[in-house]
Amino acid sequence: MMGPAHSLSGAAAWMATGAVAAGLGDPMPWPTLVVGALICAGAALAPDLDHHAATISRSFGPLSKAACKIIDGIAHATYNATRGKRDPRRTGGHRTLTHTAVWAALIGVGCSAAAVYGGRWAVLAILFVHMVLAVEGLLWRAARVSSDVLVWLLGATSAWVLADALDNPGNGKDWLFTQPGQHYMWIGLPIILGALVHCVGDAITISGCPILWPIPIGRKRWYPIGPPKFMRFRAGSWVELKLLTPVFFLAGGVCALGAVGVLG
Ligand SMILES: [Zn+2]
Repeated sequence: MMGPAHSLSGAAAWMATGAVAAGLGDPMPWPTLVVGALICAGAALAPDLDHHAATISRSFGPLSKAACKIIDGIAHATYNATRGKRDPRRTGGHRTLTHTAVWAALIGVGCSAAAVYGGRWAVLAILFVHMVLAVEGLLWRAARVSSDVLVWLLGATSAWVLADALDNPGNGKDWLFTQPGQHYMWIGLPIILGALVHCVGDAITISGCPILWPIPIGRKRWYPIGPPKFMRFRAGSWVELKLLTPVFFLAGGVCALGAVGVLG
């Protein structure tokens, strides 16, 4: 799928999480719902940071280009080191390591740890990165037209405002993890969810996604998981633009109402 569909599905997935949490008696305060949805929208683009030509790799200027090179190198090395007998040879790391559940978990737990131990600046940094990605994803071409600096400013100000909103007592920094010293621990959840949603989106639009690495399937450790061929569609096709995108929008909206308790 392309950026907007990835990001919208991420936001909708977090709204659904909010609805489930409300049903289980752990409703999210509104800032947790809103910030989580934006983080998840951003995180749903992040796996493509392993590809230098992806729009997203240009979102932080030279910094993300450098990060992209490093991630691609690590991914390629990991691929070669863990390649099964049937896995094909590859020349780059695109759509390997960053498109696995293991990666999603590592990044999510890493961000949670950074937020818990790093204090306000770590939270701001995580928010900033994901807000910029969310803007890039949700506004897509429109964000490209404006300058990078404007998008960064928007990311920085919204990170600042949202961190303040979360910080107020009872407003979300201690959602789900309520013990002292666990503030912002939940922040890794939308990051894990976003990465997984991206993998699912890739699996149905391209030739599969190695989500289950390193579990061997048919002598492949990088088995491309995906639905049967006839159920797949091309990225950017009418199914994605005319069917899935509105469905994500609607589902996200309904789940958001459920999450804030409007649906009873
Ligand atoms: Zn991808």
